[in-house]
Amino acid sequence: MNLNIAGRTALVCDASKGLGLACAHALALEGVNVTLVARSEGPLSQAAGAIAKLECGDVGYVAADVTTEAGRTAVLTACREPDILVTNAGGPPPGNFRDWSLDDWQKAINANMLSAIELMRLTIDCMIGRRFGRIVNITSSAVKAPIQVLGLSNGARSGLTGFVAGLAREVASHNVTINNLLPGFFATERLTATLDHMAQRAPEGKSSFLAHHLAAVPAGRYGAPEEFGAYCAFLCSAQAGYMTGQNVLLDSGAYPGTF
Ligand code: NAP
Repeated sequence: MNLNIAGRTALVCDASKGLGLACAHALALEGVNVTLVARSEGPLSQAAGAIAKLECGDVGYVAADVTTEAGRTAVLTACREPDILVTNAGGPPPGNFRDWSLDDWQKAINANMLSAIELMRLTIDCMIGRRFGRIVNITSSAVKAPIQVLGLSNGARSGLTGFVAGLAREVASHNVTINNLLPGFFATERLTATLDHMAQRAPEGKSSFLAHHLAAVPAGRYGAPEEFGAYCAFLCSAQAGYMTGQNVLLDSGAYPGTF
């Protein structure tokens, strides 16, 4: 299927590893010119180099922290008017809410809600002007089914989700769509770190905890980042113009609801 986005430009945050990298890769395969963002330059330049080898479009990168104003300015200086924006700013640490200070909450809200809203604010009017825009926010299945140790994520991402529900309807008539992609469990460094945290505290011991965790995933495996990237690329396609304001759960059916 040709997604009809060759030649478009995309700004992809969190793109040196994991899910963001998979999104950038899938968009590049469609001929989209991609700018990758992450904080550490080494892995980022490696990721950009690997995508450039596909020879599908232009590839650039910016080492910046998207949770800061200076970082966002650097990013938008390099990729001024993206047609496609994929937002994310890493995940907050796991823990117990009794240990979290207001500063911890402010950091989580800044990273997992406000930085995405700022990036949308700074790019959306150009998308409206061109009558094409695709925004995908990488959030989490925790928005639908809270994960106990990830309270900061459960809370902060719900704020983003509520805001997007309104904004998506406001811009839909301009062929600008905004959707949230909710990963369940995908095999990335982040998942390994979260599972380690949970396993260390599990009364049944690490190996038994990990076996039970995996067994609760209907597919019997964790998702491959490429599966996530492919879905992101579809949401950014010309054909997906009638889909907006949605929270798309990619969890192989782990969420136990009928709807
Ligand atoms: P990952 O493998 O740890 O990759 C995170 C990426 O984000 C890296 O490229 C990292 O590079 C970059 N990054 C982190 N903070 C950043 C910041 N402030 N500014 C710019 N770049 C930043 O994580 P992942 O598993 O792909 O997860 C991506 C998102 O999905 C996270 O928000 C995570 O919480 C969420 N999620 C993941 C899963 C899962 O199963 N994997 C499930 C639910 C939700 P640098 O460190 O160099 O900046």
